[in-house]
Amino acid sequence: MSTYPTAEPHPREDPLPGTEKAGVGALGPTGRPLPEFPEPAPLTSHGPARIIAMCNQKGGVGKTTTTINLGAALAEVGRKVLLVDFDPQGALSVGLGIRTNELDVTIYNLLVERGHDIRDIVQPTRTENLDLVPANIDLSAAEVQLVGEVAREQILGRALRPILDDYDVVLIDCQPSLGLLTVNALTAAHGVIIPLECEFFAMRGVALLVETIDKITDRLNPRLQVDGILATMYDSRTLHSREVVRSVVDHFGDQVFHTVISRTVKFPDASLAAEPITTYASQHGAATAYRQLARELIARGGAA
Ligand code: ADP
Ligand code: MG
Repeated sequence: MSTYPTAEPHPREDPLPGTEKAGVGALGPTGRPLPEFPEPAPLTSHGPARIIAMCNQKGGVGKTTTTINLGAALAEVGRKVLLVDFDPQGALSVGLGIRTNELDVTIYNLLVERGHDIRDIVQPTRTENLDLVPANIDLSAAEVQLVGEVAREQILGRALRPILDDYDVVLIDCQPSLGLLTVNALTAAHGVIIPLECEFFAMRGVALLVETIDKITDRLNPRLQVDGILATMYDSRTLHSREVVRSVVDHFGDQVFHTVISRTVKFPDASLAAEPITTYASQHGAATAYRQLARELIARGGAA
């Protein structure tokens, strides 16, 4: 008797890699046996939050997409999640339906002006359990303005402190640079997730990022851990994608998430609709993948 499902509930243009012929002991897309990640147990109480920075100084690797969709997947399993837009481009805020040019106060005001309470800046999103601290282009001035501040690397961490007990996870969407804003995110964080696009030169620059993380662990934030490296924009049909993932695993071993995010147009579509993939295309393999990532992160202890 076949143990394979006889029919897919919904046709998928791009199956979740590694699960298309899944069975006991099947190899996942990273070339390792794919473990089962259990359904997370419901939480009976909330907080204090674990803070995770989504970081890679390369643009277009899936930081913002992962922040929205991992956040939404965690929220779906009852975690209280705060997303922090820490990129002056404001793509995270826009991707959740915020008109960023109409905002009076953003993370920028919280960082550079006294007298703001983060609670006045946090906004609910249309997704239950998912809140947002928005940003807009104002934030681009912060880097220069903060340079002369006392304890300039710790300003974000201090600003987040009052609401940490209200959330289980805070995800910070970093800008594509290793400047002072990103250093602030890494100083505030317990963990860092590094999205890597499955493309030529994916690893270029990662050594510098790891060196930066090591310096911050040494000098500013000894608790900081790499929670995982996430392969994004994976195309199971190309040898190239598979080779990139293999080489990332050869290099980083168990730090690489078993979950891999496939390349699909559903992601840009969902951002246009200003919705997480988990509601925009709930049954699509791409939503399944972020749900699996949420379970894997929880199973690894990266979230409650
Ligand atoms: P970053 O924040 O690292 O700059 P984004 O998450 O904004 O990267 O992604 C860059 C672009 O690629 C966006 O247009 C996004 O919609 C798209 N994208 C992200 N992840 C995927 C994916 N897995 N498949 C296809 N397109 C993606
Ligand atoms: Mg981004």
